[in-house]
Order: sequence, then C-alpha cells, then structure tokens
Amino acid sequence: MTTQTPRKIAIIGAGQAGLLLGAGLLDQSHQVTIYTNRDGASFWNGKVMSSQFIFDPKLQVERDWKMNQWEAACPNTDGISFAIPNPDGSGTKAIHWYAPLYAPGQAVDQRVKYPGWMDEFVRRGGKLSIVDVGVAEMEELAGTHDLVLLAGGKGEVVKMLSTNAERSPVKESMRKLALTYVTGMKRHDYIECVNFNLIPGVGEYFVFPSLTTGGPYGSGKTQVCDIMVLEGVNGGPMDRWHECKDAADHLQMSLDILKKFLPWEYERSKDCQLTDDNGILAGRITPTVRNPVLHLPSGRKVMGLGDAVIVNDPVTGQGSNNATWGAKHYFEAIMARGNQPFDEAWMNRTFDELYNGYAEKVVRWTNSLLLPPPEYIVNMMGAAQGIPALASRLANGFNDPTDYAEYWFDAAANQRAIEEAAKGGKA
Ligand SMILES: Cc1cc2nc3c(=O)[nH]c(=O)nc-3n(C[C@H](O)[C@H](O)[C@H](O)COP(=O)(O)OP(=O)(O)OC[C@H]3O[C@@H](n4cnc5c(N)ncnc54)[C@H](O)[C@@H]3O)c2cc1C
Repeated sequence: MTTQTPRKIAIIGAGQAGLLLGAGLLDQSHQVTIYTNRDGASFWNGKVMSSQFIFDPKLQVERDWKMNQWEAACPNTDGISFAIPNPDGSGTKAIHWYAPLYAPGQAVDQRVKYPGWMDEFVRRGGKLSIVDVGVAEMEELAGTHDLVLLAGGKGEVVKMLSTNAERSPVKESMRKLALTYVTGMKRHDYIECVNFNLIPGVGEYFVFPSLTTGGPYGSGKTQVCDIMVLEGVNGGPMDRWHECKDAADHLQMSLDILKKFLPWEYERSKDCQLTDDNGILAGRITPTVRNPVLHLPSGRKVMGLGDAVIVNDPVTGQGSNNATWGAKHYFEAIMARGNQPFDEAWMNRTFDELYNGYAEKVVRWTNSLLLPPPEYIVNMMGAAQGIPALASRLANGFNDPTDYAEYWFDAAANQRAIEEAAKGGKA
C-alpha cells in the first residue's frame, strides 16, 4: 500500500460539516484551510441558527475526532416521547408514549460550538480565513488545492450547485419554523426526552434540553436551557411569527401556541424566560438535494458537503446529523483515495455512495412527515403505546433513520413491523 502524501484541502464554511471534517483531516496530517464568512464573535453574539440535536452515532464521530468539548457540560436527552392531542380541543392526549434511546443525544448551541471548534481547528494547526467566498475565491482555491469542498450551509453561494429535481420532490417550504431558547422549564415526570408533539393540520412542536451561551464572547461561559422548536403548517394557526415585533413577543407567541394546542407543554413552560434576545429565530426551508459538483467558469470543480448538498426540513432533526455523517463519509473517501486526484468521477461516486446508502432514506422519511400521515402511520403511533418494543424501534430510528425504510412507506410492511414488535421481535 502506498502511503498517502498530505493533500491540500480547502473547505468553505465553518459549520458542523466543515469544521468537523477539517479537524479530522488535520489529525491525518493533511493541510487544511477553512474559509468562512463569520468569525467566532459573530456566532457567539449572533442569533441562534438551529436546534442542532445530535443522536449518539453522530456524537460518536465527534468523540472519535476529539471534538466533544461540551459533552460533560451539555445535558443528556435519554429518550423520545411522542404525543398527539385529542382533536376535540379538550387539551388531553389522544396518543402518548416514550421510549429510551439506546444512548443519549445532545444539542450544543452552534453559537457555542462553532467558535469553540474554530479555536480547536487553529490549535491543531489548521488555517482559518475569514472571507465571504464567491466565484473568484473558489477559482483561486480550486487552482491551488487538491480538493475544494463547499460546506456553506444555507448561504447564497451554495445555490451555485444545481438542484437535483428528481431527488427534491418537495418544491416549496412546507412549514414556518421558529426556535425559542428558554430557561426555567419544568421537567416532565418521565425520562428526559425529545418531546415530539404532532398537532394534525396545525404543525409540530418538539422540545429538549441544550447548552447555550452564558456570558460574553471569550468567557466560554455556558448555561443549560431548553429549545422549543415550532413547525407551523403554512397559513395555519402556528404561522404567525410575522406578527412578532420583538423577542418578548416571540416568547409570548410560543407560549400562546402551547396553551392552545398542547396544555401539558404549556404548564411546564409558562414561567420560562428567554436565554437572551438572540435566542429566537423564525424562517422556513425548502427541502433540496443538489448535485455535488460545481463547475466553475474555468472548468475547475468544487464539491458540496452538508446542507449545501442536502437540506431537509428540521422536522426530524437530522440536518446536523447528516452533515456529520457526510463529513465522516468524505473523510473515509479522501483517506481511501491515496495520492490519486479528486476528480469529478470521484466526487460523484463519493456523494452517490452517501446518498444511496444513507441520505436518501433520511430525505424520504423527513419529506413524508411534511404531508398528512397515512392512516396506518397514525395507527402505528397508537399501537406503540401498548407495545414497548415498537415504541423503542420508532424512537431509535432517529439514531439511524435508514431503519424506517423497512416499514414506514408501505402499509403491509408496517403491519408486519407492528406484529413483529408485539411478539417481542425487532426492537
Ligand atoms: C430551525 C432549525 C432547527 C434545526 N434543528 C436541527 C436538529 O435538531 N438536529 C439536526 O441535526 N439539525 C437541525 N437543523 C439543521 C442543522 O442546523 C444544519 O443541517 C447544519 O447546521 C448543517 O451543517 P453545515 O455544516 O452543512 O452548515 P452550517 O452549520 O450552516 O455551516 C455553514 C457555514 O458556512 C458559512 N458560509 C456560508 N456562506 C459562506 C460563504 N459565501 N463564504 C464563506 N463561508 C460561508 C457559514 O457562515 C457557516 O459557518 C435545524 C435547522 C434549523 C433551521
């Protein structure tokens, strides 16, 4: 086997995918430079961007690459809880179950994580350059590096990658999204969960603990909080964020929605405070899968990574998880490439392996949750109340959503999964 000589790699975008992969590659003696348009202070002092909940298999990638700096400080979330309110407006639950994850997940605010990871990347010998990258910069980078990866998240620049229409069946944003970061939430009387509530025809609400900023930039101080994620069906009663003038309004709107639709969540949240005035966000996302290779005017190539190539609605909380899995997959492909060129065929093959082997199933499952659920799915959610093995399988699918492909999309397969779980089978 020939030894790999250090490759010169440029990554555009200091986010979950770019920083993680950059650090992993540095540890293998590659020369990595990250070009990104925000510095640490701008993240720390800026608005929240995500709820960034990460499940154990992807946390393991962070551990493996020693990028788990906040693991001890961040609260663990041990399970998944699922509830549907009664349609009669009585404020009671029609369905409720919860099940432990085989290992906890965690959510570290990207405002904490990205500045910390940027420092760590530099500490390990990486070069970090603060620049808003456009075509001219990409041309220069592609001319001077073995490989240029575009990991610019939802930045405008990623739109230069063409959309793959076949892999992007959802053509518009299906939810109005909101985040509300709070302190002072009371706990439920069961294990610490991602509490997922589905309000048919209205939207979804999920909430879980996190670690956020707790002092000025540079202090490294953090605090424990809870993140409320509200996903409102377009034009419905949760699609009202445009009415909010300020952060206080946003918190009040969040509480009003809970009071009306999910009183059990309202009861434990009504005395909450915002973590800070930047602990709110309202927006929307059009789920999009892009083609991985960007052809620059010169003919040079840049390869997309993370949200730049696969952006999902956050309803299943898989974006940071996908970005991490993508970083791991690209890392392995780069290592396996030895000293051969990172040509277009390699770029397409590397992405297709990730997409066909993993991401396609995440995309399909996530997109399915944006449409009203078929009756058999609602029935299965009800059945999980009385079949712990089924609840466990459903909950642990979040760790590896490829399992849903076995039973989520087909009524007969679904029935078999329920029967198998009822007999104490696959869990
Ligand atoms: C409301 C909401 C809730 C979410 N909740 C979850 C969740 O619970 N779990 C989960 O797994 N995922 C969640 N996500 C998705 C997750 O946040 C993203 O999928 C993840 O951050 C993608 O990582 P990335 O590295 O691809 O991009 P990002 O983390 O967005 O990083 C992109 C980087 O590129 C930089 N950049 C952009 N343009 C340029 C440019 N022109 N030049 C240089 N740099 C540039 C940016 O500044 C940033 O540093 C959520 C998203 C939203 C919106």
